[in-house]
Amino acid sequence: MHEMSIARSLFKLLNEAASKKKAKSITNISVNVGRFAGVETELLQRAFEVLVQGTIAENSELQITIIDFTLLCKTCGKKTIKDEIDMSCPVCLHTNTTVVSGQEIFLTDFEITV
Ligand SMILES: [Zn+2]
Repeated sequence: MHEMSIARSLFKLLNEAASKKKAKSITNISVNVGRFAGVETELLQRAFEVLVQGTIAENSELQITIIDFTLLCKTCGKKTIKDEIDMSCPVCLHTNTTVVSGQEIFLTDFEITV
């Protein structure tokens, strides 16, 4: 399961940060997940819950924020939020665009107790 490996990398990051600060527990965790990052947020939640059992993050809460898929058009400079992976600019119809957000997964915040 793809989500399990994401949960594992998240936990690895958290664990490293927590052990540097000699934390006793990790509590509120916030993660941004792009709309087209290819992640089922429910599966990620569940995978994370299973993974942290018996660890310092056992009682943590994983908050997932979905980030819109946004394109920046390099021809007309407009930013557009898309509901599907479509690389064309709706303003000038060029496909000379770049993805600004929506395919990423990253840890934005977490709390620890020491
Ligand atoms: Zn454009």
